[in-house]
Amino acid sequence: MRYYKPLAEFGPRRPPQEPLVDKFGGLPWGLDPAAWPRCSACGGVQTHLAQLSHHPERLDLGEPGRVLLLFMCYHDPGGCPSWGAGEGANACLILKADQVGVGLTPPPGEAPTALEAVVVDWVEKDDGIPPERYGDFFNESVLYGRYTVEEICAIPHGTKLGGVPSWEQSSEQGPPPPWRFALQLSEWVDCLGPPPEPEEIGRPVSYEIGERRWERRPAAPRRPFAEEILSKLRAWFPSRLPWKPYVHEPRRTVEETGFFVRDDGWGVQTADFAYGTAYVFLRTDREPPEAVMFWQR
Ligand SMILES: [Zn+2]
Repeated sequence: MRYYKPLAEFGPRRPPQEPLVDKFGGLPWGLDPAAWPRCSACGGVQTHLAQLSHHPERLDLGEPGRVLLLFMCYHDPGGCPSWGAGEGANACLILKADQVGVGLTPPPGEAPTALEAVVVDWVEKDDGIPPERYGDFFNESVLYGRYTVEEICAIPHGTKLGGVPSWEQSSEQGPPPPWRFALQLSEWVDCLGPPPEPEEIGRPVSYEIGERRWERRPAAPRRPFAEEILSKLRAWFPSRLPWKPYVHEPRRTVEETGFFVRDDGWGVQTADFAYGTAYVFLRTDREPPEAVMFWQR
């Protein structure tokens, strides 16, 4: 079956966004702030995960100009059930062309913003699965009866539109037909161009080249001697003294690692699914079409 992989650029390296583009992370384009979803578990503002436009083959939303927006709550990872479809801690919106405004929409309240990868092209590929075998990938006994583990593991991983999903867990978690698998999201989007230096982005970059793994941090600015001594003293003291009550800090970032450089490229972390994968299903037999998302790890 045909599927589509994104070719992306790291958002902050691009000129300011002008029209609507396909993207992961960052801020959505043209969303009415009143329509920005909140988490039904904690009441917090959800984080934008992806904005993807209708395309007859790649992502059929039933009508040109329609846009799919994905959101998820990051305020209390492991607490708010962002992994579940219909639990209210993630959200899928489908906007009609005339509902898409102009300009980037900041979150209408406190919410972490994910690192941004902007899609500059979609690469059409084939996963080798005949379209008439599509149904096999949503039935555990058929899947493991008809295919070898090697064949199942060979289903393309990572972020892709279309094809069949590469499951982390049960292949039966998605809603039944007429719902159809539309896309899967990994935590990482590969980006074009040279990998960022820690100084460029002001944060650590993780490397896995050859057999080695390491991390590079931006050079720390030199501090005055007295400040250096004070901060060392603070580090030696117990961090939670008995009279200092523990205050639950809201989560400020989405990503664990952020930037990851490998032998064959580099990626930016635009989502955190506890090292898992998110799946989006669509039904287009209703008007307007509907989408649901869930993730597995
Ligand atoms: Zn929440």
